[in-house]
Amino acid sequence: MANFFKDNEDLQFYFDKGIDWEPLVKITEYDYAAAGGHDNADEAVEFYRDIAQMVGEFVAEEIAPHGAQIDREGVEFRDNEAVFPERLESIFAKIRELDLHGMCLPRELGGMNAPMLLYYINSEMFSRADVSVMAHHGFHGGIAMAMLMFSVHEGSTEFDPEKMEIVKTRFEKEIQEIASGKAWGCMDITEPDAGSDMAGLRAKGEQDDDGNWFVTGEKIFITSGHGKYHFVIARTEEAQSGDDPFAGLAGLSFFLVKTYDDDADGTRTWHSSFDRIEEKLGHHGSVTAAQTFDRTPALLVGSRGDGFKQMLKLMNNARIAVGFESLGLCEAAYRLARDYAAQRPSMGKTIDRHEMIADYLDEMRTDIQGIRALAMNAAFYEELAEKASVRLSHMPPDNDVDRNKLQNTIKSFKARTRRVTPLLKYIASEKAVEMGRRCVQIHGGNGYMKEYGAEKLLRDAMVMPIYEGTSQIQSLMAMKDTLNGILKDPQGFVTRYAQTRWRAVSSRDALERRVARLQQVSLSAQRALITKTATDKFRSLSGKPLTSWPNAFLKDWNPKRDFAYAMLHAERLTVLLSDEAICEALLAQAKAHPERREVLERYLDRAEPRCRYYADEIATTGARLLEQLSRTDDEQHQAAG
Ligand SMILES: Cc1cc2nc3c(=O)[nH]c(=O)nc-3n(C[C@H](O)[C@H](O)[C@H](O)COP(=O)(O)OP(=O)(O)OC[C@H]3O[C@@H](n4cnc5c(N)ncnc54)[C@H](O)[C@@H]3O)c2cc1C
Repeated sequence: MANFFKDNEDLQFYFDKGIDWEPLVKITEYDYAAAGGHDNADEAVEFYRDIAQMVGEFVAEEIAPHGAQIDREGVEFRDNEAVFPERLESIFAKIRELDLHGMCLPRELGGMNAPMLLYYINSEMFSRADVSVMAHHGFHGGIAMAMLMFSVHEGSTEFDPEKMEIVKTRFEKEIQEIASGKAWGCMDITEPDAGSDMAGLRAKGEQDDDGNWFVTGEKIFITSGHGKYHFVIARTEEAQSGDDPFAGLAGLSFFLVKTYDDDADGTRTWHSSFDRIEEKLGHHGSVTAAQTFDRTPALLVGSRGDGFKQMLKLMNNARIAVGFESLGLCEAAYRLARDYAAQRPSMGKTIDRHEMIADYLDEMRTDIQGIRALAMNAAFYEELAEKASVRLSHMPPDNDVDRNKLQNTIKSFKARTRRVTPLLKYIASEKAVEMGRRCVQIHGGNGYMKEYGAEKLLRDAMVMPIYEGTSQIQSLMAMKDTLNGILKDPQGFVTRYAQTRWRAVSSRDALERRVARLQQVSLSAQRALITKTATDKFRSLSGKPLTSWPNAFLKDWNPKRDFAYAMLHAERLTVLLSDEAICEALLAQAKAHPERREVLERYLDRAEPRCRYYADEIATTGARLLEQLSRTDDEQHQAAG
């Protein structure tokens, strides 16, 4: 029997050694105090392994062999409904039978109380089989967990601290409906005139005199948007002027909208208009829908005006999920290319023996291991941070020392996940496209033909760097966080620089010295960006009264104008930051498990010259283009009057 878990040694390394299961299981099992739960980490991990093996076999046997059919048949839009072909229906029937939608939900809500990390690992295997099936599957359990998370955060979930369980939660009915597979949800952000620029969103949320909310507006490109439950972001606050913060992100609120009711006679009453299913390049087993809301009843989630903040909570997890989905695609592309190359003869040997192809394959394998290390880190710390926050707010320790300790732990986990999440989304999705393309190339002419499946992987991969925040948006986030960190604590940056320099020459471990040197390259690039940014800022003050300089320099920063140089190089910086984070994760593994030293060596061999190249580009290029952009900006301003 094919099994995407059992045939993947790297994935099994994480189960056996690479994941520090103890803290994750302990917090997931409420310190082993909950009734009906696991009594220790070993027992729990055995259970998780059984699930992973079961999923590994299911996706390998019952989804992967039908990828071409899923791609060919797509989903039909008929009489204003999405109609799944038989194959997809039967796959989702089996997912329901295996009870996978509610896997991470607490037991008291009918779930298995498995960690989200297991869900992500399963996502990788699902995506290796067919990423579009994973996308729709993800909008079941993922949305049910989001409903629970939102309710916990807004205070509409009650816990029994004695029994360590949930006794009441706001969206219980909806969660159970989704867990049973009878419904699913989606996330409605994008509009025809606003995608990356959320400040431009126009959908409106309005309240009547009785306090009921309604949303009106058009949302497009919604994955699984034929679903019943839509998280919709809409504008609720009127801006007085263009400068009013309400004109931007602060004017947005977050809603849960039910788009239809199932009637007793088997028909549906719609509360919104399901306009169409988009025809698209790939991802054919996943519906991408357009919906129009016209005073559709809605439930406000959280508070008025904090819609953007709420949406980020959902997106953090979604970005990690895309990281794992991309990883699954990379794994599929690598294996397809490797197996083809091993049997295709050319000029006296199989093509995997030709140097350039061997080099491609070696780089793909190495990148996959690096990305997986980053993905596991992001998922691990995100889950620990989230669960520890719930513990602190709803079941806090009964003494100050433990409370403070928990608070500090949460802060450190949040900082880690905040750092690596945009890097994961960026690098995993970009690599999925690169590997899809390489898979086609390694197949030669056959790669261009549908029969071999390589071109499908490339088409499916193309959306990864676009949805859940494009690569450029991830890069801007990573760059801003990095530079703000330096501006807030310049001394900390200098200390880190010095420590890294010291480690680069004095560490007894040669691999640690190499990682420190790579960190130095990254830190030098950051220093170049911040120095250039500060120099430009000073230059912009010339001609202005000296008395205005302190305020202008310390407080009056305009992200669009003052960070132009850093924005220009944000993507290059993100590659450096990703390599740095991956090498740190692999070094930690190498220190604990000597057999991982070879993985780090291979990764460093590739990352070192790459980082030097990007650091050089950051330090030496861009002035000409920025000059040109600022000239045309000025001309446009003058022309506008
Ligand atoms: C298959 C699919 C499924 C999707 N699913 C969902 C979903 O479930 N829910 C949902 O709400 N949306 C969904 N989307 C929409 C997706 O999130 C958006 O397409 C994406 O955020 C980009 O927005 P946009 O298309 O408006 O492009 P734009 O924002 O117009 O961007 C166009 C290009 O400009 C770049 N760009 C924009 N601003 C900047 C900047 N400041 N600096 C540098 N570069 C910039 C972008 O990176 C991009 O390369 C989906 C899209 C697709 C294709």
